[in-house]
This record gives sequence, structure tokens and C-alpha cells, in this order.
Amino acid sequence: MRALAISAGMAAPTIDNDDLLVSSNITHETNLWGDDDDDLLLFHAVADGVGEEPTGQGECGRFPGKDADTQLVPLEKFRHGYLWVSDFGQQMWCEQKVFYTFTLPTVVEEDVKMMKGTGLHLARELAAHETVPVNITSSEDIWAVKILNLLATIQNFLNGGLLAREIPVFGAPFSEDVFMVGIIDELRFDPESYTIDLSELKTRTTKSNPSKCQQKQHEVQAMLYKKLFDDLVKGVTSKELVARHLKLDLGRPLGESIRQHVDKHGLSAVSLDGLMDHIFGMIQGLTCISQLFVEYVFQDTHETLSHNEIQYCESDLEGQFKHYLQFWRSQRLAEGVEIEEAWKCQKCEFASVCDWRKRKGEEYAMKNMEKNRLGPQF
Ligand code: SF4
Repeated sequence: MRALAISAGMAAPTIDNDDLLVSSNITHETNLWGDDDDDLLLFHAVADGVGEEPTGQGECGRFPGKDADTQLVPLEKFRHGYLWVSDFGQQMWCEQKVFYTFTLPTVVEEDVKMMKGTGLHLARELAAHETVPVNITSSEDIWAVKILNLLATIQNFLNGGLLAREIPVFGAPFSEDVFMVGIIDELRFDPESYTIDLSELKTRTTKSNPSKCQQKQHEVQAMLYKKLFDDLVKGVTSKELVARHLKLDLGRPLGESIRQHVDKHGLSAVSLDGLMDHIFGMIQGLTCISQLFVEYVFQDTHETLSHNEIQYCESDLEGQFKHYLQFWRSQRLAEGVEIEEAWKCQKCEFASVCDWRKRKGEEYAMKNMEKNRLGPQF
């Protein structure tokens, strides 16, 4: 049986663009980070920054500190209080670049490679389920769409389904009180062993696997997805937590179109309150994710280049998570790439204005001068 997923088809004017783009209506994305990143959510990072004036002391991009006028930290100023899993992947590539993306004007161009990556994702999604547009009338409706799509996956697995794609996950991992949202590319359920495996799809414009550095980014992304999913299964994520972070009114009646889909799932909920009660109870009947994989696919031929298993390490993930959160909370300055990874700067559109790059170059030149002055060391 083919499952159904719903997508937000019409939005009320008050709803953030962030939310609208979660639906499968996304038609384009940007590719400022390398040649294989087909993350749909990357669009947000750039779209939010387009046309924004550089802010005060951040003009050179060094300081992600509080906005001088509003006292907002980057988490609030750039991300409306919650983060996407893909944000951490981008930070791993270059945090300084993340900062520039939000604060300096960038040109967003659609290109054929990006469209191909998006098309491949969409083709895989449609092979697993049909999408049905719904009308939305509030932020609560938007989140009800995500919840219903998660419900479709849960019901699918509990009814003997083996495969689900584009599964929304969310939560506040590691007791840090920072809300995260993401979309898992693929989950496979094995009813015999009662295990669930996760696979993250990355498309490649060249017929080769990405660098170790890019692979690491993708691994962390997959590990965060597992953490969010597992927290839902373990009952760590509550409806109160979701409502508080997303500023949702749990009791607000859902729109007519959403209510019809709730009915189709055999539920009687009229608001997020009842809907989440039902789903959070139901997902605890599933099991945590067992194995993690990243699949690299060549865009032109759809050929799988590799399907690599990832070793999940919660302590490593937690350490990295907390380090990257410091940037979003203004607890430290943005960090650019180290000298060993200076090759990333070669295709960075901010290279000509990058303060971090300039300082690193000066430091490197100083060290060389000092070495030459001292002569050969024995
Ligand atoms: S030039 Fe280099 S250090 Fe600066 S933002 Fe780009 S990648 Fe990062």
C-alpha cells in the first residue's frame, strides 16, 4: 500500500517562510557550500540573508555577537529561535561562512545541478508515497502537517510497511533547551528483527565520493536525525516543549483542510493538543534507530556511488552540538577554516571580504617570516 504525505499548499500571510519551505513544494535550492550538498533546507540559510544589510560591527563578519539594537543572539536574529539539522552541517564546513550568509547580500541563483539534486530527492519521495496538498490557515496548521506526516510513517510501520521517506523529526536534544527540526530522507523498518535503519541521501555532481571533510558533515547530520527520532520514541520530546519553542497555541482549532486529514487517519483531534497526544503515544510503540547510512548518488545516472555505514557516538555528537550552539548563543565568535582546509576558501563567494581568511593569512606569513629570521633549527 502506498502511503500518503501531505504538503502545505496555501499559507496565511502571517506564517514564516521557514515553515512553508518544509513542504514538498520546494522547487529550488542553493548550492554555495560545495558540489554535493543537496540539502533542501539550505535554501533557508541563504534566503533569510538575502538583501539584509550588514549589521554594525559584524560588517566584516567576525562577530556573531548580539545585535546592537535588539540584543538578539544569532539563534533569534537569524533563525527565529530554532535550528535546522542542516545548520550544523554548514557550520562544520565553515562557521564564518554561515555568518556571512546571514549578514551579507548574496546572489541566489538556481542552477541545473541543484535542480537535478532536488529532482532526485523528489522522485524518491514520490516512489514511497503520494503527496496531497492541503490549505493551511495558521502556524498551528503548518506544524500539524509535519505531525501528520510523522504519523503517516508511524502508522505505515505499525501496519507492516517497510519504507518511509521525508520524515519530519524535531526536539531539543541534550537538554540544551534549543529546538531543532529536520527531515530524515529515508527510514527502513524490518518487522522480523523489529529494527529501523536510517539512510541519508546525498547527490553528487561528479562521479566520485566527497572529501572526508564533507563526509564528516553528512555523518553528523545523520547522527542528529537519529538523536531527534530516538528522543521522540523515548518520550523525551513533549508537546509542551514543542509549543513553547515554536510559540504555538496547542488549543487553537486546526483549519478545515487539516481536520479532514486528521479524520482520514481515524483520529478525533481538533487541535494540536489532541493530535500530539496521540502521536507522541503512538511513536513510543516503535523502536530507536539501529543503523545509520549515508548514500552518495551520481546525479546524472542516479547510480549509487557508495552506501556507507556510520558509527553513532552520542558523546562525540553531544560535544560537537554544544560547541556549535555557542555560536548561536553568542557565547563565542564565528570560526572560519584552519590553514589545512584553506582549499575551501577557493570556491567561497565571500573570500574577497573574509576577515578570518585575511587574519589567518597574516598569521601564516608572520610565522614564516619568524622561521626564516631564525634560520634552520637543529
Ligand atoms: S573565505 Fe574561507 S574562512 Fe572565509 S568564509 Fe569563506 S570558507 Fe570560510
